[in-house]
Amino acid sequence: MSLEKLANIIFPSVHKTPEYYIEKYPKRNLKEGAKVTRYAPSPTGFQHIGGVFAALVNERLASQSEGVFYLRIEDTDQKREVEGAIEDTIQTMNNFGMDFNEGMTGQETSKGEYGPYRQSERAGIYKTFAKDLVAKGLVYPCFCTPEELTALREKQIAEKITPGYYGEYAKCRNLTPEEAIAKIEAGEEYILRLKSPGNIENRVEFHDLIKGDISFPENNQDIVIIKGDGLPTYHFAHAIDDALMRTTHVIRGEEWLSSLPIHVQLFEILGFERPQYAHIPTIMKNDNGSKRKLSKRKDAEAAVSYYKEVGYPTVSVIEYLLNIINSNFEEWREENPTADYHEFQVDLDKMSKSGALFDIIKLNDVSKNVISKMKADVVYDNYIAWVKEFDAEMYELVAANEKMSKEIFNIDKEGPKPRKDYAKWDEVKEKVFYFFDELFYKETAEQVELPKTLTLESAKEIIKVYVNKYNVNATSQEEWFEDLKAIGAELGYCANRKEYKANPDQFKGMISDVAGAVRAALSHRSNTPDIYTIMSILGEDKVKERFEKFLEV
Ligand code: GLU
Repeated sequence: MSLEKLANIIFPSVHKTPEYYIEKYPKRNLKEGAKVTRYAPSPTGFQHIGGVFAALVNERLASQSEGVFYLRIEDTDQKREVEGAIEDTIQTMNNFGMDFNEGMTGQETSKGEYGPYRQSERAGIYKTFAKDLVAKGLVYPCFCTPEELTALREKQIAEKITPGYYGEYAKCRNLTPEEAIAKIEAGEEYILRLKSPGNIENRVEFHDLIKGDISFPENNQDIVIIKGDGLPTYHFAHAIDDALMRTTHVIRGEEWLSSLPIHVQLFEILGFERPQYAHIPTIMKNDNGSKRKLSKRKDAEAAVSYYKEVGYPTVSVIEYLLNIINSNFEEWREENPTADYHEFQVDLDKMSKSGALFDIIKLNDVSKNVISKMKADVVYDNYIAWVKEFDAEMYELVAANEKMSKEIFNIDKEGPKPRKDYAKWDEVKEKVFYFFDELFYKETAEQVELPKTLTLESAKEIIKVYVNKYNVNATSQEEWFEDLKAIGAELGYCANRKEYKANPDQFKGMISDVAGAVRAALSHRSNTPDIYTIMSILGEDKVKERFEKFLEV
C-alpha cells in the first residue's frame, strides 16, 4: 500500500495504466517478415554522414520488406536542441532518397498512429510506466545530490571498486516508502532510478544481427530512468518507444552496444517483447595509418553539408554508403550497370562487423561511375543546379551557353566506355573552362601547357601554318588526324614513332608535338578530350580566333 502511495505522490496526475498504452498501440498489421525500423536522431542540428549511413540501413531494410520506416525525434536532452533541426533532418533524408512512412513531418507536425513521435511530447507515457514500476518497487526515488554522487565515485575509484550507483552503494534504494515520502514532502529534489535486479556474476547471451552472438555481464547499476526535469533518459525512453511503436528492428550505432545489458533488462522489467538489434559499425577514417572515428570537428566530410558543397550527386554518396554497408554492392553494380540502386538487396549478414572505413578515393571512383552513366542532359541539370548555388560566374556562363554545355557534357558519353572526368561538380570548371571565352582568355602565358618536347616558339610556328592549311570540313576524328599528319609532315614532324626513333635528327619532332600545339592553342591544356571534338564544339569561328590569338601569346 505504501509503495502505491509513494507512486501517487511522485505522479499525482498520472491516471492511465501501462495496459492503456499497450492497447492503444497494437501490434502492427503487416505482412510476414515486414520490418519496422526507425531513424531516431537528437535534434542537435548537425547532420553527420554517420546518421545518413544508419538511416539508409534502416530505410532499406524496411522498404525491402514492405515494412515501416519512421522518424522519431529524441529530444529529451533539451539543452542540445537546435531550432529547425527537425525540418533539416527530414530535408536531408529526403535529399538522400529516403522518405519516412511515419513520424515527424515537420517541426510541429507528424503522421501515423503510433505517435507522438517526439519524445518531449511523450512525457505522460513515460510517467505512466515509471509510476507502475514505482508501485511495484522496481523503481525508486533517489535524493542523492550531485556532490554526494561525486564523493561516492571518488571513494570507489580510490578503493579500486567499480564506480557507480549499485548494490550496497545505492544508498537510496534502501529507503522505506515512508522515508521516501517524508523526503518528498519536505521538498527534497530527486530523480528516479531502476532498482536493478542484475548480478554481474551472471552473463546474458545475446544475438546481434550484425555482431553475431555476444554475451555480457548483467547490468547491476541502478541507472537513472527519469531525470530531475521529469524527462526520461535515453535508455528508458528507447525501451518504451520501441516497444509501443512496435519497432521490430533497432538498428543503431555500435556506441550503444555497451548499453545493451541495460536495455535487455529494461525490456524484461517492463514486460515487453524485445526487438531484434543490429549495431552498425562506426564510420572510421584512416588518419596517417591509424584508424579513428570520423570527427565532426576535424573532418569536413563528417558533415552531410560537405557533399553538397563540393558537389557530389547524392546518388553517388548513397551508392558509396551502400558499398560500405555491403561490400558485394560493387559486384552487383558491375553486373547491373544501369539498375536503380533500390533494386540492390541490403543484407545485415553481409555487413562488416568492425569499423567501416570511409575512403574519399573510393567515393570518387563510385561517383565518377555514377556521373559517367548520366545522360548529358541530366549532367547539365545537376550541374546548373549546383553552380546556381555555389559558383555564380559558372552559372552565368553555363546558362547562357546551354547547347554548348550539353555538348561538352556529352563528350564520349554514348560509347561503351564513357569518360569518367568528374567525381563532383566542383571539378567541372577546371576541366571545361577553355570552352568559355570569358574564362579562357583570362589565362596568362604561364598557364599554357605544352608537350615537354615543344617550345612556345615552335608551337606558334606550327599554328601559324596550321591555321591557314587545316581542313575545316573534316567530318571525323580519323579524317581530322590524317589532315594533321599531312600538315605535320610538311613542317618536318614525323608521324611514325619507329621512323622517328631511327633518325631523330631528320625531324623537328613527332606528330604528337603538332597535336600538342593545336591542343594548347585551343585549350591551354595538355590533357583534354580529343581535339577534333573540341574543335567541333567550339565551331570554326572560335577555333580560328583562338589560333590567331595564340600567335600573340
Ligand atoms: N538518439 C539516439 C542517437 O542519436 C538514437 C539511437 C537509436 O537509434 O536508438 O544516438
